Amino acid sequence: MIIYKKTQEISDWLRIEAKNAKTIGFVPTMGALHEGHLSLIEVSKKENDLTVCSIFVNPTQFNNPSDFEKYPTTLENDIYLLEKAGCDILFLPQKDEIYPDGFLKKNYTLGYLENIFEGKYRPGHFQGVCMVVDRLLDIVSCHTLYLGRKDYQQCLVLQKMTNEFHPNVFIKTCETKRTENGLAMSSRNLRLNETERKTAEVLFKCLSQIKNEANHQSLDLLLNSASDEIVGAGFDIDYLAVTDEALIEITHLTKGEIYVVLVAATINNIRLIDNLIFTAL
Ligand code: AMP
Repeated sequence: MIIYKKTQEISDWLRIEAKNAKTIGFVPTMGALHEGHLSLIEVSKKENDLTVCSIFVNPTQFNNPSDFEKYPTTLENDIYLLEKAGCDILFLPQKDEIYPDGFLKKNYTLGYLENIFEGKYRPGHFQGVCMVVDRLLDIVSCHTLYLGRKDYQQCLVLQKMTNEFHPNVFIKTCETKRTENGLAMSSRNLRLNETERKTAEVLFKCLSQIKNEANHQSLDLLLNSASDEIVGAGFDIDYLAVTDEALIEITHLTKGEIYVVLVAATINNIRLIDNLIFTAL
């Protein structure tokens, strides 16, 4: 695996040395890598001649400074895991490579997506996400961008951003990797102690109950009882909802349509998100 820290060097390499690669897959991350990230690398490797991963903890997408400061970093292990996974290139920039002096901020038109769910609870978050991925895509010219469905709203937002600014980049979303008890893998799980990690399994349990019962029971009742269970376990809930594919909340299901049940909840100042996608019977 080649590691580049400088924007110019990776751009030049991809333009000159990699010109024979028919397809390049790109997996942007914030590090503290786990099997979820590695599953994106694996899919990209299967589908492309070259796979590029980036690790950059992007300050502009953190609305909460302490969340940014406490974001886990495990760089040595990340490099080891990426080597083992067969990643070809790692881009490891410092902040001034991504946001050099004179960097011009854009304002991304994200419509309602900016103000609901993650957008509502993390003001400015999606502008920051778009800013960094837009910039990374300028540097790493790729064919396909690999994203995890764990961050469902982020996938919709980045589809909107790429439609406008990188229309030739194809987005592929990949399924959420979980522990054997269902907890969605997340870098933030490193901050949970053993008890909290066990407690956090309630999120997947409740999402699964809603998904499995949604065809037979009132959504309101299901959401209320799941919410009681999650709060009872010690979480504060930001949201728990059932929506259509576009993240518009719904009150009843229509056969054959695709829905998302999604949650964001905090325990001991550690905020976790998860979702399940299902088709109404
Ligand atoms: P992050 O490092 O959290 O910014 O995540 C980098 C990419 O990995 C994003 O596209 C995430 O959606 C994806 N990702 C994070 N957790 C998982 C997971 N458990 N399963 C699959 N993809 C994931």
